[in-house]
Amino acid sequence: MSGTPAIVPEVGRSPDPAAGARRLLARLRDVMAGSGSAQDRLDKIVMTIAHEMAADVCSCYVMRAGEVLELFATIGLNPDAVHKTRMRVGEGLIGDVAAHSRPIALANAPSHPNFAYRPETGEDPFNGFLAVPIVRGGRVRGVLAIQHKDRRDYDEQEVETLQTIAMIVAELVVVGELVDSRELSVVNDLVLLPSRVEGTSLNRGVGMGVAVLHRPQLTIRQMVADDPEAELARLKEAVTSMHSAIDQMLIAVGESDSEHAEIMQTYRMVAADRGWLNRIREAIRSGLTAEAAVQRVQDDNSTRMAQVADPYIRDRLLDLNDITNRLLQHLAGKPVVATGGTLPDEFVLVARNLGPAELLDYDRRRLRGLVLEEGSAYSHVAIVARALDIPVVGQAADILRRVEPLDFLIVDGDNGQVFVRPADDIQAVFVASLAARQRRQAEYAKLRELPAVTRDGQDVKLMLNCGLLIDLPHLKTTGADGVGLYRTEIPFMVRPSYPDVATQFENYSKVLEEAGGLPVNFRTLDVGGDKTLPYFPELGEENPALGWRAIRIGLDRPSMLRKQLRAMLMAGAGRDVRIMFPMVATVAEFIQARRILDLEVKRLKDAGNPGPSALKVGVMMEVPALLFQLDALLPLVDFMSVGSNDMLQYLFASDRGNPMMNNRYDLLSPALLRVLKMLVEKCGEAGVTLSLCGEMASKPLDAMALLGVGMRHLSMSAPAFFEVKSMLRSLHAGDLAAYMDQLYHLPVRSLRPYLKAYAADHGVRLG
Ligand code: PEP
Ligand code: MG
Repeated sequence: MSGTPAIVPEVGRSPDPAAGARRLLARLRDVMAGSGSAQDRLDKIVMTIAHEMAADVCSCYVMRAGEVLELFATIGLNPDAVHKTRMRVGEGLIGDVAAHSRPIALANAPSHPNFAYRPETGEDPFNGFLAVPIVRGGRVRGVLAIQHKDRRDYDEQEVETLQTIAMIVAELVVVGELVDSRELSVVNDLVLLPSRVEGTSLNRGVGMGVAVLHRPQLTIRQMVADDPEAELARLKEAVTSMHSAIDQMLIAVGESDSEHAEIMQTYRMVAADRGWLNRIREAIRSGLTAEAAVQRVQDDNSTRMAQVADPYIRDRLLDLNDITNRLLQHLAGKPVVATGGTLPDEFVLVARNLGPAELLDYDRRRLRGLVLEEGSAYSHVAIVARALDIPVVGQAADILRRVEPLDFLIVDGDNGQVFVRPADDIQAVFVASLAARQRRQAEYAKLRELPAVTRDGQDVKLMLNCGLLIDLPHLKTTGADGVGLYRTEIPFMVRPSYPDVATQFENYSKVLEEAGGLPVNFRTLDVGGDKTLPYFPELGEENPALGWRAIRIGLDRPSMLRKQLRAMLMAGAGRDVRIMFPMVATVAEFIQARRILDLEVKRLKDAGNPGPSALKVGVMMEVPALLFQLDALLPLVDFMSVGSNDMLQYLFASDRGNPMMNNRYDLLSPALLRVLKMLVEKCGEAGVTLSLCGEMASKPLDAMALLGVGMRHLSMSAPAFFEVKSMLRSLHAGDLAAYMDQLYHLPVRSLRPYLKAYAADHGVRLG
């Protein structure tokens, strides 16, 4: 069957493509509004598209249960193939479009390696092929394709037009009940059975409640508009009202929570993004209503998101999605806040991904956990969730398809897993563990007032690792002795651009103020490796962990380091300031860094600023080469902090971020423990304070081993604080040290079993 011959200039190739697209949309609107079943309307739609785009074929494939695309309507292919031809997602060109959620345009389709010939459709004579995904709510619902007998290079305008049409078809697929909606949400019967979904822990803790699926898609009733000017005016009004609502939110977040404020400022910038608004305006000019235009741009956005690997760009695109939803609500005149009386008392929020402001829309008193299909540790939403102390599991594959609204969920943020509709016995285990956790927290709170002293009277300094201002209140709640590691790169990572001296000064001043006189070890910028800055060039290093990072960048870009040191020294005027340098591999590097610091001290003095009342300078011990330069290094430093995360990776040549290497080498290996013991001795002789600030200090058994090798300063994440304190108060450190002396020479991978047995036999509380 061939397409109806075009009697009007073909859309996309007419002198005024936007006018052509508008006319096509107007015709489709009439079809959509017309009578007949959804199938009848779909048949008319493919006919109209073929006619207006002068195509020989127009076909619509709809996604059915089990990731199968079924031919639902065609003009130009064999009509008998309708409801018979099916292909899996990923199979053939149509399946490829669905799998990657992106258009494919080919001048000569049969020569493409993915072309799958289906004899029943009789499609062999067609060369030109253009197919676009039918997307709704970020999910592919089908594929819309046109074909031409001749070879043909499709231009951008044609691709755009077909994408816009696909959006209208999406409405018919989702709302028009072409396929039973239950079929699309319930993959198979198994979905109703209890299941466990594995993900990644983005924040610790356990929470349970009924599922609330984030923001069900708003239904857009009218897709096509006759009067683009009126739609542009509606858009303008909605954007203004959205901006003022975001400003209100910023005021509400206020200075008290400057990290939120910073994130919200970024968000405000995204909302004012001209490129984004222009794209929406263009879509309106092509004949869409304001709502449909916003949705159209969001669909594009979701497609781009699926293809972008860079976490920062993904997060920005996510912010845009968040804002898009908000804008749609302003266009619809609906309230934005999701905290109405309809929310359950205890709920777990489930989303593909979420912007920071969207999370704040929900009533946090009832929010028990957050599960994201995507999400990364450094995303803004994870940072905000941590501040709110909500357990979060990210990268929970397919969670949105496995969960129905009001299903009961358990979010196990400690182990990065989610239980969906858990059986009674699993529920009972978590209810008991939650109760035990609450009791333990109450017990632990009493520990705050007790000294951090071992059973044999050894004083231990317990400090916190921090990176954001919202971490600092933990100093008070735990009673910690100070901040053993302030990771200055974290505030850099959540900003859209490099912070100037004034911004850094403000940040460090607040840290020192919050610390209220307790010592804070500021570590200079430790970026590179796994920590990337959005505004830093992509280096494409083969081996980033062994590459240009931390102090190496600081020494090669001294003005950057100088500015950071200047901000620290200015913030510390009249106070004690402690600064340490990360990833130092040679004494010469330390000397060079120290010189830069001295220059800044002098510069400040010359400017009449007396600077800090005392300045202590330290070094991170992370690179094994430094172990062989201690005699030269120790006289030059005031303190040293072991970064056990990096130390393990460099000592064993084992990438810390590679899951294949998980548990292959152990922190409690004789090698690492001997290194630490040697450091304790050498630093003791030299009068240099030695601490450890890697994750090792956050685990009670590992922390016990640290006390066994003689360490007396530990810096850890706040949630671990009381567990470690409880452990040390139950330990006889001298006795453990003597026991460990017999172990160092054992030819074993790890001393963990021996230390566990020791703890069990000697009543050491490990949590
Ligand atoms: C470490 O390496 O142990 C450390 C504390 O530094 P970071 O984890 O920030 O690399
Ligand atoms: Mg490190």
